[in-house]
Amino acid sequence: MPLFSERDYRIVEKSIFPSIASELKAWETIRLLLACQHANERLTKISSKREELQHSLDVSSSKMESMNDKIQRLNVEHASSNDDMKAKELEIKDLEARKRKLKAESIKASSNKLCQKIIQEIERCKEKIDKLETAILEILVDKDSISCELEEARTLQHDYSQQHDKEEQEIRNTLKVLDEDELQEKENFHKLEREFPAEDESLRHFWNLVKKGKHNAVVDVVKETCPGCNLEICTSLLQEATELEEIVKCESCDRFIFSTIGAIFHYVSEEDIEHGQLPLLPQLALRAKKTVRIRDVWGN
Ligand SMILES: [Zn+2]
Repeated sequence: MPLFSERDYRIVEKSIFPSIASELKAWETIRLLLACQHANERLTKISSKREELQHSLDVSSSKMESMNDKIQRLNVEHASSNDDMKAKELEIKDLEARKRKLKAESIKASSNKLCQKIIQEIERCKEKIDKLETAILEILVDKDSISCELEEARTLQHDYSQQHDKEEQEIRNTLKVLDEDELQEKENFHKLEREFPAEDESLRHFWNLVKKGKHNAVVDVVKETCPGCNLEICTSLLQEATELEEIVKCESCDRFIFSTIGAIFHYVSEEDIEHGQLPLLPQLALRAKKTVRIRDVWGN
């Protein structure tokens, strides 16, 4: 088993002073971890964006569904009003026929009493017909109002359907782009993971932190405080986090900590740090007598 991994050799080769290779190694690990952290943040954003879009799709579909349900319900109500009206019209027809029959019978009635009885029956028929006609009028008013509501619901559904189709298409296109972005990010992540030596524990520790909800697993110390847990860092640990001869973790929250405070060379922009590039320690840079960046060590 070789003493150094290929990566270690590359560090030693590329560093001006082989004795400072361990410092480079720790910085390089931090750089990789930061790059992992940013990739993970991007993956999380993709995932929450996807959920958001999926939710919009669900909301839009359920709105569409409820519009269709309303139209269906109104159609059923309309049909049932029609049936009701037809039944009442038939009833009136029967009653009219009965009335005519009774009138004929009344003419032929053998006694006044019987005639009187038939006339009373005819009156009852008339009353029933009156009630049925009133009911039919009420049904007609209801039917008109259902027809208006149906017309309105159909127009709304038609307009919304067009908007819904357009929005759905846009969302599906965005989801497709997100899928591609996610695939790309995962690929990048795997590339980063492969840069860690097999025996390196830091990536495993990084994932443990992320799983515990500590998504900012690698933090740049602010003044004398860990930005992860907001607790003070003792002087000796702060010194270690600044020199970074080896990986340093916060005693309170176990996050990876590093510090660029006091760096003489500020040629690494915020954007560089965002992308996982870090400046070398000021001492190291002074000793190297030239501007060397961690990414120069790796040629990226
Ligand atoms: Zn902490």
